[in-house]
Amino acid sequence: HAKELGRGVHCFFEPGMDMALRKRRSLERDLRHAMQENELTLHFQPLFDSSQTLVTFEALLRWTHPTLGPIPPTEFIPMAEESGLILALGEWVLRTACRTAIGWQEGYRVAVNLSPIQILRGTMPALVQAILNETGLPSSRLELELTEGMLIHNAEEALEQLVALRQLGVRLVLDDFGTGYSSLSYLHRFPFDKLKVDRTFVQRLESDSSARAIVNAIISMSKNLNLEVTAEGVETLAQFEMLRAQGCHELQGFLLGRPMPETEIRHFQPLFGSQREQTIQQLQLLP
Ligand code: C2E
Ligand code: MG
Ligand code: MG
Ligand code: MG
Repeated sequence: HAKELGRGVHCFFEPGMDMALRKRRSLERDLRHAMQENELTLHFQPLFDSSQTLVTFEALLRWTHPTLGPIPPTEFIPMAEESGLILALGEWVLRTACRTAIGWQEGYRVAVNLSPIQILRGTMPALVQAILNETGLPSSRLELELTEGMLIHNAEEALEQLVALRQLGVRLVLDDFGTGYSSLSYLHRFPFDKLKVDRTFVQRLESDSSARAIVNAIISMSKNLNLEVTAEGVETLAQFEMLRAQGCHELQGFLLGRPMPETEIRHFQPLFGSQREQTIQQLQLLP
């Protein structure tokens, strides 16, 4: 019976895999054209410091496919990484983000996500320097967000690249912290300026006392290592208050502002302005 079942599964699976593969191939092809066809845009999500001042916008890539509509980055970024297209895509993101940021009179910083493939190529420091020169953005206004996965597997090369990037004066952020396997003390060997607590911990703050303990430990350990801490995915006032009470330096999430197109930035009303009491009252009125 097992044999029969195996054969059955085999027969059932192959056409399906073909379909998936074909779909993927054609999406890959479409992505290649997306840059020329102006189907790619950046959205920007605000980050606030602990006194509720807007300090940074994170650039998040968006792709609107001509027939399929919006495709999430969690779907097309891995595809771009496998095909190598991420190098061209990543350069476009960096250039567009810096160009946009130079137009912000308020002097906000811009945070750009980098793929490990871009780092390990070995040409990022030169590219970043060239784009800063070209756009005129001061290096202190650029933050680069990286995830920890690649650091473990390519520690030597990664370290060298990160040191060179940091020497340009940009700030390095360890994104999605807590989802990988590396310890904070190990990562302290890398020249990070701050780390971003992953959304999964923030989301469990209210219901799960161990998530609370983990987040508190991350925050206090980071402080001892002279790292700043950001929390991503803040969706509720309770999460916001807990993180602030623990001394989290920066906060980001749908509660404070969703990713938005560049044109909306100048109309954006931060939910947490100077009149905090009033703001909280307003928030409590929200559904
Ligand atoms: P990330 O860098 O960790 O970005 C945060 C993601 O969480 C974004 O999803 C953002 O829209 C979402 N988010 C922010 N606040 C909240 C919240 O309060 N609740 C919930 N549920 N979600 C929230 P997005 O834009 O879909 O991006 C997903 C991931 O794709 C990013 O995670 C990043 O790893 C990657 N990505 C996006 N743009 C780029 C890019 O230009 N280059 C590279 N290499 N990766 C990118
Ligand atoms: Mg990020
Ligand atoms: Mg993140
Ligand atoms: Mg994340």
